[in-house]
Amino acid sequence: MSKTITVLGSTGSIGVQTLDVAERYGYKVEGISAYSNVRLAEEQCRKFGIKKVCIGEKYYSDLKTALSDTDTVVTAGEEAVSEMAYECTSDVLYNSVMGIAGMKPTLAALRGGVKKIAFANKETLVAGGNIVMKEAEKNGAVLLPVDSEHSAIFQCLQCGNKARKILLTASGGPFFGKKKKDLENITPADALKHPNWSMGAKITIDSSTMMNKGLEIIEAAHLFGMSPDDIEVVVHRESIIHSMVEFCDGAILAQLGSPDMRLCIQYAATYPDRLPSSVKPLDFSEIGTLSFHKPDRETFTLLDTAVNAFKRGGNIPAAMNGANEEAVSLFLKGKIKYLQIFDLVEEAAINAKYIKDPTETEIFETDTASREYVKSRIQ
Ligand code: MG
Repeated sequence: MSKTITVLGSTGSIGVQTLDVAERYGYKVEGISAYSNVRLAEEQCRKFGIKKVCIGEKYYSDLKTALSDTDTVVTAGEEAVSEMAYECTSDVLYNSVMGIAGMKPTLAALRGGVKKIAFANKETLVAGGNIVMKEAEKNGAVLLPVDSEHSAIFQCLQCGNKARKILLTASGGPFFGKKKKDLENITPADALKHPNWSMGAKITIDSSTMMNKGLEIIEAAHLFGMSPDDIEVVVHRESIIHSMVEFCDGAILAQLGSPDMRLCIQYAATYPDRLPSSVKPLDFSEIGTLSFHKPDRETFTLLDTAVNAFKRGGNIPAAMNGANEEAVSLFLKGKIKYLQIFDLVEEAAINAKYIKDPTETEIFETDTASREYVKSRIQ
């Protein structure tokens, strides 16, 4: 029988590729949510005969009108997304929402009994990983990683237990080899040029600052129950090895492939089975060599900002994440300089009021306070 899926964040980069995968395998797409892309949300609803769509409140009437000749139920707003997640009965719920906005629907889905969440929303695990992982465990649900590195680690972990180390690969982004002084006048256009992966704007900026890798260390720590001391970042410019796992006997397993998110997306749905994909096979003689470097932690200080935030624990990762979401958004709007992202995020993490074991509400309060802090520092 064909699988059924629901896709939160369906018009973003991962969402669009998830629907590509759904089309290829004939998955039935039951529900989608999007924030502002009315045109694409409409197109997706028509193409997949979607029963329910949720859109940002401001765009409700546009989408409602656009779909008035169909049976698709249109709802709007944050609460409606959580309601869709809570009521979801699809085989797999894809969460490809960007940012902490994905946390409430994740918890709603878990509380509503969704057993498989294909997870591409790293900010939620960074900010509220303890709460989310506990809720998943309580409800007997699994988070299937869609992030390419985490999917690679998850695939490697199928080959054995007693992993002692994760080797998390990083492309190094567009500014690999540069020093702080070279980054003073970086513009959004410079930072949006990623060497290997085609992704949304926020994650592309995060890749350029290497905050993405910092967030991914925390994501891996939660998903695989590892200490950040056992997660080593390896800069691998070619993005052919998507990450590796070292086991207690010294064996290291790697997952390799062309940089194409669709493999991770489909594996989350087909796991533990595999199905043929459209991903281009590797030609090793064409690749020639693979290179590896240590990350430059003096330039890309956010790597340590993230590790330190995770080690301090409590609400500090949420403070750091909120500051980063705000700083990246201000940078993309041309309101702050590139290097200010590094400083503001670090400062916000240091200055946040520490809460040891934050509730869900306190996570969101921390997020808001941190965004306010960042905004107050630039006025
Ligand atoms: Mg990644």
